[in-house]
Amino acid sequence: MEGLERTSEIQAIIRRKVATLISVAVIIATILDIAFFIYYLQTDAFHEGALPYFVQRLLTPLIMNFALLSFMWGSEGGIHGVDYKNGVVAWVICSVCGVAACVHGYYVILWSLPGLGILFLTISHNKILKTCMLAYSYFWVTITFLIQLHKWQDYTTVFDEPVIRYYVENLVIAYILLTIIYFMSQILHSHILEIMEDNRTLLRQSGEYEQRVATDALTGCYSRDYLSHNIEKIFRKCTNRLATSMALIDIDNFKKINDTYGHDCGDVVLERIGKLGRMLGHAEQERPLYRVCRYGGEEFLFIFTDRNPVTCQKQIEEFRRVFESQEYDFTDDRITVSGGIVTCSSAQEFDVVFKAVDEALYEAKASGKNRIVVGKGL
Ligand code: GH3
Ligand code: MG
Ligand code: MG
Repeated sequence: MEGLERTSEIQAIIRRKVATLISVAVIIATILDIAFFIYYLQTDAFHEGALPYFVQRLLTPLIMNFALLSFMWGSEGGIHGVDYKNGVVAWVICSVCGVAACVHGYYVILWSLPGLGILFLTISHNKILKTCMLAYSYFWVTITFLIQLHKWQDYTTVFDEPVIRYYVENLVIAYILLTIIYFMSQILHSHILEIMEDNRTLLRQSGEYEQRVATDALTGCYSRDYLSHNIEKIFRKCTNRLATSMALIDIDNFKKINDTYGHDCGDVVLERIGKLGRMLGHAEQERPLYRVCRYGGEEFLFIFTDRNPVTCQKQIEEFRRVFESQEYDFTDDRITVSGGIVTCSSAQEFDVVFKAVDEALYEAKASGKNRIVVGKGL
């Protein structure tokens, strides 16, 4: 799930970058429009008066540029990975640029601007959409060609050979440029897919790594590392309503078990603690009753969040009782645990809670072992 979120985050970043690129291109085009207009004003080249030039060279392109920009910015939040929305944005970009090329006229660079629509579709995964946009860009280039030809015919009565060659050249170069943009977009897209795949693999690996670090290998309980990363916030959230209880369990006479039956048998007892702890903790279906963490060698912390303190005490007593009844291959003796439990109903530092629960455990050991002592609440 997290991997998917990260992937769509990357897509959003790429989408924003492409949108920024197009915006910059449009802003440059706007500055050029203004510069050209000022230049023409100063050279006094307006044969038919300034107004038609003002409309054709400045006003119309400006309106188009800003329409395109506002469409890009307006759709920024709403185009998340949906093909048809990407298609509409690309179609608008292509149309606006196509019209701008028709109005502006002569430059192959302008004629190729509808290709921005194709470029925009790099963020989409839909090849058919991109191919349609290529065809649509060809259409605009052809229209631009025909309009320029038509305009020129208005000015001259005799059809001029070099001029038609100039427009045909423009046409062919624009077709080639659009095709190059299309293939560039395909290559770029396959790179993006590779990066996203790498990102997914990394996320999976880091997730597996985190899982491994968070779990104690022998018992399957949460590790001390997991505890140190998460415990502070658990106890800082404690309130009267969200009471948290913590129990510390220690195996009785464990050294003797190790010494008598060997370390491997000691490990079997530790594994049993983990297995039983998880089994009893998951008795309820909707969420575990507590989290068990291997705090040290044979000391385990049971953390109950947002639970009635009496339920927690009963639960840890139940654990002690069931553990005592366990049978082992290597001995007929009963193996027992002692424990202390405290409940916090106000925000606390972990160290303070641990000290209180350790004192309760000490009391349990001192008063004969195989028992749970309820410490003073915090
Ligand atoms: P008490 O009843 O007072 O708790 O006495 P105890 O013998 O259990 O004393 P203590 O709690 O100090 O014992 C800790 C022992 O736990 C010492 C160490 O050999 C053993 N131990 C710690 N980690 C492991 C482990 O991973 N495997 C095994 N088999 N033993 C471990
Ligand atoms: Mg101990
Ligand atoms: Mg012990």
